[in-house]
Amino acid sequence: MMRHLISTLAAAAAFLAVPASAQDMAAPLPPLMPWSGASERLVAAPNDPWITPAEAQNLEATPSYAETRAYIDRLVAASPLLSIETFGRTAQGRELYAVRAAKPGGGRKPVLLAQAGIHSGEIDGKDAGLMLLRDIALRGKHNLLDRADLILVPIFNTDGHERASAYNRPNQRGPRNQGWRTTAQNLNLNRDYLKADTPEMRAMRAFINRLDPALILDLHVSDGIDYQYDITFTFPGWRGSPTHSPAIGRWLDARYRPAVTAALARGGHIPGLYIEPIDPEQPYKGAALSPDTPRFSTGYGELARQPTVLVETHSLKPYRQRVLGTYLLIEESLRLVGAEHQGLERAIATDRAARPKTAVLTWKPLATPLFTIPDFKGIAFETYRSPASGGNEIRWLGRPMNVSLPVFVQAPDTVVTLPAAWWVPATKPEVIERLRVHGITFETLAAPRTVTVDMVRLTEPKLGAANEGHIPLSAKGFVHAKRNETFPAGSVRVPSAQPLALLAAAMLEPESPDSLLAWNFFPEILMRTEYIEGYVIAPLADRMLAADPKLRAEFEAKLKADPKFAADPQARLAWFYQRTPYYDERFLLYPVGRELAR
Ligand SMILES: [Zn+2]
Repeated sequence: MMRHLISTLAAAAAFLAVPASAQDMAAPLPPLMPWSGASERLVAAPNDPWITPAEAQNLEATPSYAETRAYIDRLVAASPLLSIETFGRTAQGRELYAVRAAKPGGGRKPVLLAQAGIHSGEIDGKDAGLMLLRDIALRGKHNLLDRADLILVPIFNTDGHERASAYNRPNQRGPRNQGWRTTAQNLNLNRDYLKADTPEMRAMRAFINRLDPALILDLHVSDGIDYQYDITFTFPGWRGSPTHSPAIGRWLDARYRPAVTAALARGGHIPGLYIEPIDPEQPYKGAALSPDTPRFSTGYGELARQPTVLVETHSLKPYRQRVLGTYLLIEESLRLVGAEHQGLERAIATDRAARPKTAVLTWKPLATPLFTIPDFKGIAFETYRSPASGGNEIRWLGRPMNVSLPVFVQAPDTVVTLPAAWWVPATKPEVIERLRVHGITFETLAAPRTVTVDMVRLTEPKLGAANEGHIPLSAKGFVHAKRNETFPAGSVRVPSAQPLALLAAAMLEPESPDSLLAWNFFPEILMRTEYIEGYVIAPLADRMLAADPKLRAEFEAKLKADPKFAADPQARLAWFYQRTPYYDERFLLYPVGRELAR
């Protein structure tokens, strides 16, 4: 996943001259530790008629969209257990599809959704999935479907997958042809969960809301620091880390984590917790297990009460090793969802039945670790002076070095009391449409209604740097005030007494870091309309000063405290204008209302 990419490097790389030869540009990756494991027995023999396209290339390359589909079509034609479900189209018009593996009979079974290739250069899940589908359909593993269905999305970011190159993932050992991180619209699908801008994410939301999976696997490959672990995973609630969906978190931690860890270890893999170093220059100083905002799959999943596991194989391990680890993880997840679906479904039901009164919107770091991993399987490194960077750089040495690693979590920072409901005016159809995409419950007004709501006015709004197709908006302050607001017909009332209340809060609460306001879905409030001429406001201001001693005192204090203001006639008149009823009273007013509890 790699969130802390050195983006200046990425930007600079785009302007590099064409390399003199491929050899000159071969990425100088750190040394590799030797590996072999029982999972290697999963690889089909070279003469096997059902060898997958990746296996046929010794798990060093990955098939294209068309080659992948051709193999799947052949497999589906050969097995009554498999079928294809189309769920949408990409921005460039490619079909988005999933393979369903299910046994008829036995009523409705829990669904495991394995989503591969949200970052299409991180495609281990596709090739692992094809092998597992083959083994389920034709090689005796059909018992996995006795109590659960498997839905495999082989390539989520399909357009990005077709922008393949040997130069897309310099920190990753294979496959040779790697897809591109973002979509054809240059949007990162793992930042699009909540804002749902892309046709791919909208299609996936509708698909998931129809499937209601018991468990979702979001399959990635990680960059970042080197360590011995070849496959890592995480979920909100890991060893008691804070989560919005505590019952789901407890099930994942008590049942999923140990079972998957054991299955991977039996296959010869080295499973671990997916971590991010708190200080990249001192990789083993400590790790952060930070809550994700709902732009990410796991942050979204915990707010939407959908159990979601983030899987990150380690980019410095060879493709073959990573695919085999991913195979075991999907297989064990499927077995577990079937074997333990009652406990899992009870946890989901518990979290969906919760009606929280408050929502945590932001978090702050804690000084003491939640736990320490006493024998974290690190890799030895040294630092050296780089002539290129002019600074100290890390050189990984390829030797095991076990360390004691403290893991830090965060504590609630901004906590809001949920309103009884949010009111979204009909003038914001793109916001109302997103509520629908997420399956959030709301009622639509047939006639205008005037309600007393709490509304927020921004102070000192600031536009940020372009991010995911948006110019994000922040503000120094959010001033709440009660007002009577008339919402026209077509406006919606979103009650907070619903399973998706926390998702609605993340989307609509103005202080939420991933809110639609923060993504700047409301740029119109930044523009003040109408004006007042100097020959009107100047005499009016004189009259206000004469009539209101309190106002005069406030004005004089301002003159004294702010010499720049005192010397600026326009600013002085504007100060009075803001205090007249002529001023645009909707300027910087966030138009979503918060209906307070009665
Ligand atoms: Zn990723």
